[in-house]
Amino acid sequence: MLSNPPLPGSESCPELMLFDLDGVLMDSLPAMRAAWEAVTAELGVPVPFAAYAQHLGRPFGDILALFDLGKGEEGGAGFAEAYESAAVRFAHLARPFPGVEQALQDIVAADCRLGVVTSKSAARAQPMLAVLGAPFAVLRTPDQGRGKPSPDTLLLALVEAATDPADALYVGDMPVDQEAAQRAGLRYAHAAWGYGAPTKPLPLILQEPSQLVDLARGLPSRGTA
Ligand SMILES: [Mg+2]
Repeated sequence: MLSNPPLPGSESCPELMLFDLDGVLMDSLPAMRAAWEAVTAELGVPVPFAAYAQHLGRPFGDILALFDLGKGEEGGAGFAEAYESAAVRFAHLARPFPGVEQALQDIVAADCRLGVVTSKSAARAQPMLAVLGAPFAVLRTPDQGRGKPSPDTLLLALVEAATDPADALYVGDMPVDQEAAQRAGLRYAHAAWGYGAPTKPLPLILQEPSQLVDLARGLPSRGTA
């Protein structure tokens, strides 16, 4: 007897699930807002948080360059340093999204490895990984290559985990995540609980963290494409 064809929307389970950190695993917007508002007030920089937030997902230095901040003129040179220090001060405002910690445990139980590819520095990402308490096999940051939307950090994560692009998946929440995954040849799923909207062609869209577990188990996702 012939076996049934795969159900529509079902995919082979990935060996490695790579995650963006901010807006996917951690709800860090309150921490970022507090740090941005403290530093812009302190240095008299007239860039509202909403303008900064449009570019979340890119490396911080790349965002500062878009606003002509972070290099050259007095005050600007100290902006990145002041923000880094404020971000540490307000880090306690960042929390895992509800359901994320359980989903990570269930993904590991489904024999799928975990990794994080973020635009945060390793120094700021590591404490968040500790909060999440899951066994991450790989962490890649722009400290080790061009940041998103370039594919470099995703590709380096695959090399470190000795995994083919076809056997991995990236979960993000911003258009730069989607673009980086596409340029790296990775499947992409969009976390709708994060901070941005996907771009066309629309990817698989997940409405809640428990749907990550469906993907790890190779079940037809309840997400929408
Ligand atoms: Mg993000």
